[in-house]
Amino acid sequence: MRVFSLPMRTRFRGITVREGMLLHGDAGWGEWSPFLEYDARVAEPWLRCAEEAATGDWPAPLRDAVPVNVTVPAVDAERAHAIVSAGGCRTAKVKVAEPGQTLGDDQARLEAVRDALGPDGRVRIDVNGLWDLDTALASIGVLDRAAGGLEYVEQPCASVEDLAAVRRAVDVPVAADESIRRAADPYRVRDLEAADVAVLKVQPLGGVRACLRIAEDIGLPVVVSSALETSVGLAAGVALAAALPELPYACGLATGQLLAGDVVTDPLLPVAGLLPVRVPTVDEALVAADPDRVAHWSARLAEVRAVRQDPSS
Ligand SMILES: [Mg+2]
Repeated sequence: MRVFSLPMRTRFRGITVREGMLLHGDAGWGEWSPFLEYDARVAEPWLRCAEEAATGDWPAPLRDAVPVNVTVPAVDAERAHAIVSAGGCRTAKVKVAEPGQTLGDDQARLEAVRDALGPDGRVRIDVNGLWDLDTALASIGVLDRAAGGLEYVEQPCASVEDLAAVRRAVDVPVAADESIRRAADPYRVRDLEAADVAVLKVQPLGGVRACLRIAEDIGLPVVVSSALETSVGLAAGVALAAALPELPYACGLATGQLLAGDVVTDPLLPVAGLLPVRVPTVDEALVAADPDRVAHWSARLAEVRAVRQDPSS
């Protein structure tokens, strides 16, 4: 196994460096990159995902490319227009509800995105759970009009109960993202009828096959999203997207550009809004980290394996 540490182009999710471990197995490499604040129990399914990749235990792909969305941060309208125009994607995910900004800022951003995409493009918004229920109910219609029609609103409120209330009250479909972090979460979202779309990430949910089972069980359309992985980890998300019987939405897997580097010779980057279904080639010369980070990750791996040995701990 090898440890990587890559700077991020912009601060995202509060971090400026993305770290993780690559595990080698019979079939190649798998990525294990749980965020640093996660304890061993939370990080365990992330390890299953890496092991599945390293042993090559992925289902056969049903398609050879996966549509992906461009992500528009909470930037001004001019910058939003430029990002969408440069991206080549037919679907844009637009961040809204940024603290310190107004609904008018979000409206202007969405109008610019629609202008850049044209009438055939799809626009979704991501609230990251930042609205309370009343704000969600007051804002979604306004932003739906500004965008010339929204594909869906992602995680408008933090709680699953509020997602369900939003879904009952508005016509715009609701997607659950932060509400789905652990294996049991998708079932709760389903049981409370809280979402029309489930955002699934392969690492936190235990791998490609685990996500495929969840998708089948919950009966909701799935958007496969990344956890800010390198191309090795992204390939697992692509494998899931390629194996889903239905893929009606573009996936959130075009995040490779957020890292100012990669660990492969042929990074998984979108071309004309599509990611190819393939396994990239690791370049071990690019997999590097300071000795203290290597020690940190080795200790972390040992902790997760200890948790597995003693499920009661
Ligand atoms: Mg999201």
